[in-house]
Amino acid sequence: MQFIFMGPPGAGKGTQAQILGALWKIPHISTGEILRACVVAKTALGLKAQAYMDRGELVPDQLLMDIVQERLNEPDANAGWILDGFPRTVAQATFLDKLLQELSGAEGSTPNPKFGLKAVNLDVPDEILVSRLLSRGRQDDNEETIRRRLQVYREQTEPLIDFYSGRQQLVAVDGDRAMELVTAELQQSLSIDS
Ligand code: ADP
Repeated sequence: MQFIFMGPPGAGKGTQAQILGALWKIPHISTGEILRACVVAKTALGLKAQAYMDRGELVPDQLLMDIVQERLNEPDANAGWILDGFPRTVAQATFLDKLLQELSGAEGSTPNPKFGLKAVNLDVPDEILVSRLLSRGRQDDNEETIRRRLQVYREQTEPLIDFYSGRQQLVAVDGDRAMELVTAELQQSLSIDS
């Protein structure tokens, strides 16, 4: 069970990843949450990341790759995981492939985890995203930063839809519906033995 939750900011991937992670008893790994915790703790990484996050820009790939590598090596990640907010660039996706290949060779882990990998794309129209984010009111949820994050998503993250659909690993879900309906559809389309 290895799932990537993609979608523009505000699509609801964090909410869904949290619900399904608890249901399936696998960790929900949100790179945004990890980064925000580093910002609060004022670690070197947090201080570096904060400026990018406040502007709505992506934090440099290498920092994220280090974070994800470390997190996926934790013992609780052995049974599976939901990655929320990573990968966000083609370079990050390529890195994840390599990392999973390495991990599958490691003792005690499941063989060929790449075959179990599925990427979900939650789609929601831009106007809905902007109003959802404005009502959420996180530090990086002001109108200017939101617009920039949407633009960055279209430019750098959306190409991953083709990346995963080309490998028959993509599950597209309409995120512009009631939360419970989205959860139900995800449960159905990610059914574990498929
Ligand atoms: P959103 O609701 O915008 O999807 P996230 O919590 O996933 O928010 O991410 C917040 C911010 O953290 C992003 O705008 C970006 O600056 C940074 N970030 C999170 N994940 C990544 C990543 N994989 N690569 C680069 N930057 C990231």
